[in-house]
Amino acid sequence: IEQESPMITDAAELERLDQKSQFHPFTSIADLAKEGPTVMTSGQGVRVRDAHGRDYLDGMAGLWCVNLGYGRTEITEAITRQSERLSFFHTFNGMTSDVVAECADALLKRAPVPMSRVFFGASGSDANETQLKLIWYYNNLRGKPEKKKIIARWNSYHGSGVATASLTGLPGMHNYFDLPKGPILHVSAPYYYRDAPEGMSERDFSRKLARELEEVIEREGADTIAAFFAEAVMGAGGLIPPPEGYFDEISAILKKHDILLVADEVVSGFGRLGTYWGSQTYGYEPDLITSAKGVTSGYFPMSVCFISPKVWDVIEGAAAQTGIFGHGYTYSAHPVGAAAALAALKLIDELEVVKNVADVGPHLMNGLRDRLGQHPHVGDIRGQGLMVGIELAKDRATKEGFPPANRTGREVLKAAAKRGLITRALGDTLVFAPPLVINRAEVDELVDKFALAVGDVLG
Ligand code: PLP
Repeated sequence: IEQESPMITDAAELERLDQKSQFHPFTSIADLAKEGPTVMTSGQGVRVRDAHGRDYLDGMAGLWCVNLGYGRTEITEAITRQSERLSFFHTFNGMTSDVVAECADALLKRAPVPMSRVFFGASGSDANETQLKLIWYYNNLRGKPEKKKIIARWNSYHGSGVATASLTGLPGMHNYFDLPKGPILHVSAPYYYRDAPEGMSERDFSRKLARELEEVIEREGADTIAAFFAEAVMGAGGLIPPPEGYFDEISAILKKHDILLVADEVVSGFGRLGTYWGSQTYGYEPDLITSAKGVTSGYFPMSVCFISPKVWDVIEGAAAQTGIFGHGYTYSAHPVGAAAALAALKLIDELEVVKNVADVGPHLMNGLRDRLGQHPHVGDIRGQGLMVGIELAKDRATKEGFPPANRTGREVLKAAAKRGLITRALGDTLVFAPPLVINRAEVDELVDKFALAVGDVLG
């Protein structure tokens, strides 16, 4: 990895500056005070290097986003060219830029089901905020002002804004923040490993969850429920793939009650699960799709909401009455982001990234199962494509977890980092979502380093 030349190169000095200056997102202030930050300085392919010159295999593709790996000059050059040519223009009042027009068209062509329009933003959170507002707007315009409640799931992650954190089903994001519960309801996560009654098949567990959903809809009144939000595989909430038949069961109920299905594909979009879209892996048809991260491979902040004809036609049909659509961001459809997205979309096709995931994803799963499947403290290994979770357990047979105070997952994460591997600990579930261009040899290295790290902590 080539070392760039930042102004300050001394690792201890960089750590000190960061520690005393930066308020880190999703970080324990107490841990940071004790341990200091890890300062990254460069990256190439699936690897990053820290300020001490230590290399890591990035098993998380940054934050599930650097799908094409680091140092992709096709994207960095597209960003440079666009910054020089037209560094910014907006999309309010019917303005746009050439590269944005091309990007919107390229995205619509890649949608999993026919979509009418894309709406741009800069993050997954702002995109889900857009979706919520669109859903309420749509139901007002079609004369259903009571149909406003939103159903999400426990363990879901949909963002950090006021509305999207309320939607998110993670208690750690609600504690101390006094988020408005608003018109948001939560139903159970499809957490087969932990929550399915002993001996129940996946299919029956899916039916059970569908019944719960329908009971909530009937209790509240279907004419008050607007939409259901779901990630294909739950990411930040513990890497939870849907049990067999889950989306078939859920989709049927949503259709029956005229409730929109919003596919949050912020992580699963653009190949992560071994199909271009997560909804294609499980065969359901979203009314709205939220995407971000992989659209530029993390090289530029960009999000994209896809809007189906069902929703668009109502909005367009009422345009004479509504006047200006009163929503948008300065950085909606940033031309530099559009240039980055066009370069990334081209690479996804040319490098046959989706095909690679369909090959190396099962290789990763098999490798982990071979090495750790029988480990006494590995309770479950689950996932889809290049999105995999390993849930630790104190007692594999009873599934009893380790005491949370032990922070066992975090200990394994630290041991992995010492061995040059980045993972993420969601409680005691360690997750991997490496760049989608990872090859078999790199997957083998990941599995080897991880198995050794588990051994370091748990024997
Ligand atoms: N939705 C999902 C499924 C996510 O995983 C994330 C972020 O990880 C978001 C939304 C929010 O995206 P952002 O962090 O870009 O706001």
